[in-house]
Amino acid sequence: VVKADGYGLGLAETATALSQSGCSVFFVAQTNEALALRALLPEAIIYVLNGLPEGAAADFTAHGLRPCLISMAQIAQWQAHCQATKAHPACLFIDSGFNRLGLGETDIADLAGSPGLFEGWELALIASHLACADTPEHPMNAAQLERFRHALTQLPAAPTSLANSGGIMLGAAYHFDMVRPG
Ligand SMILES: *Cc1c(COP(=O)(O)O)cnc(C)c1O
Repeated sequence: VVKADGYGLGLAETATALSQSGCSVFFVAQTNEALALRALLPEAIIYVLNGLPEGAAADFTAHGLRPCLISMAQIAQWQAHCQATKAHPACLFIDSGFNRLGLGETDIADLAGSPGLFEGWELALIASHLACADTPEHPMNAAQLERFRHALTQLPAAPTSLANSGGIMLGAAYHFDMVRPG
């Protein structure tokens, strides 16, 4: 995760060093950061955490950017764009906490009941974010792990990601397929 100018260390410096060390998947918060990163790393997989802005799908696919879809409207927008062009990859971002950006329990139930919403685009990742991972003893960590696992049982099979830096330290149960250290 190289958002906020690589946490103030410089996007170019951090992303280049990470890429040279073998990192191939990057996360940024906003579209403008993703475009700057794309100019540096033509081959990298780049996810935009803040979601898909209205009307931005064509710009995203033109630059090979993957949105983290955080609402039913964004899923519909991505699906419509893909059905008009081709199947592009995106991430489903789940709110496993209690007030974070992302798809909530009602949305997940709606998705589970509407498999057609997954047609025409590539579900490349299912992710969520731990709110309190910097406090290992916080009960929220286990609660979010449980909610994330429960959401996964309702969704199509796809690679999964939950842990930020603090989450990595919580142990293997939190690691899933990919971690997102910042
Ligand atoms: C910022 C962020 C990260 C990285 O968080 P750190 O605590 O800096 O490791 C991971 N995932 C998401 C969704 C983020 O917003």
